[in-house]
Amino acid sequence: MPLLDVRSRDPGSRARAGVLHLAHGPVRTPAFVPLATKAAIKTLEPHEVAALGYDMVLGNTFHLFLAPGHDLIGGLGGLHRFMRWDGPIITDSGGFQVFSMGHGAVADEIKGRAPGVGADGHRAGRVSAIEERGVTFRSYLDGAERFMGPETSMEVQAALGSDIALVFDECTPFNVSRDYTARSTERTHRWLERCLAWHGEHGPPGQVVYGIVQGGVHEDLRRESSQVIAASGCDGVAIGGSLGEHKAQMYEVVDWAADELERGAAAGRPRHLLGIGDIDDLLRGVELGMDTFDCAMPTRLGRHGMAIVPDPERRWRLDLGKARHKLADEPLMEGCPCPACAAGYSRAYLHYLVRAREVTAMRLLTIHNLAYVARLMASLRAAIGDGTLAARVAALRGGAAP
Ligand SMILES: [Zn+2]
Repeated sequence: MPLLDVRSRDPGSRARAGVLHLAHGPVRTPAFVPLATKAAIKTLEPHEVAALGYDMVLGNTFHLFLAPGHDLIGGLGGLHRFMRWDGPIITDSGGFQVFSMGHGAVADEIKGRAPGVGADGHRAGRVSAIEERGVTFRSYLDGAERFMGPETSMEVQAALGSDIALVFDECTPFNVSRDYTARSTERTHRWLERCLAWHGEHGPPGQVVYGIVQGGVHEDLRRESSQVIAASGCDGVAIGGSLGEHKAQMYEVVDWAADELERGAAAGRPRHLLGIGDIDDLLRGVELGMDTFDCAMPTRLGRHGMAIVPDPERRWRLDLGKARHKLADEPLMEGCPCPACAAGYSRAYLHYLVRAREVTAMRLLTIHNLAYVARLMASLRAAIGDGTLAARVAALRGGAAP
């Protein structure tokens, strides 16, 4: 049985639907993967996430390495047992977090953040050295000097026992030179070989490894990186790094990689798009042939008082903290079948909870948002299956509820 069993294809795009067969069970694709960054899906229990229609969650190698530590989790039976999630888990490599600290000043400038806060919102540590062997940095928790290289990352992911491990890569930021991006992408390719070598010798049985395509926003580098990853013999391919300044550029960058992957030896291997999850990006990503996606968006928005609603003009977002909801005696989303909407809470009540910073608001909105994205992905899978994807995507883009 292949790792990815493709059961239907959309004739008008690269979209495909199937089942990803992993050690802890099947994942129906295309699929969105909610974040369990620190071994928890914030405000929810694992069984609730499964009941919303999710087959897989993502654990964060960098954060779990720093606390509570992969030795502790490994000693307690691995990440599945530790957090009581029985289904598949994908772990990222830690590269993104390590390098967001290193490139923090640059990233802060781009995104207008206060200096000292990493790209994932955590207080930044400090990178002392980026070398061929790996990266030395100071932990954001206690200031202790730590090291992570390709072998460390694979060792941590082996101890966690994830179903899918990602190779350690340098996540190059957007505004570095083409020359820097080229050299960094080559180093990522050398690290890929080291990761695969370590995994070949010590990797846990059943764990599969995804390579990561880098290359910034440069077409030749992205295409070349895709070819190198495809030729490496890794089980699947993730697309990472800077995908551009705006959505049109992001779609172009993903299209270059997908085009190479579709034509090469890796055509049948699963593809994961890292860190992407806005509604319009999921629609386009599926058309471009991506099988899985992860993103903080639905859960993070929920914790900030925002609900996902079928309103493309407002980027599918409803800000319940806004004063206009103060007296709104209407439901969050008319006809929403999710467990959070079932009790019929009014927007006025949710507005009040958000303003009062009640944890219940975060929880209700996280449930609603994850349920929305789960229905969206299920709807896309069904449409690929019955040959109606183009019409379905057009309707969803136009503001249809999933
Ligand atoms: Zn709802």
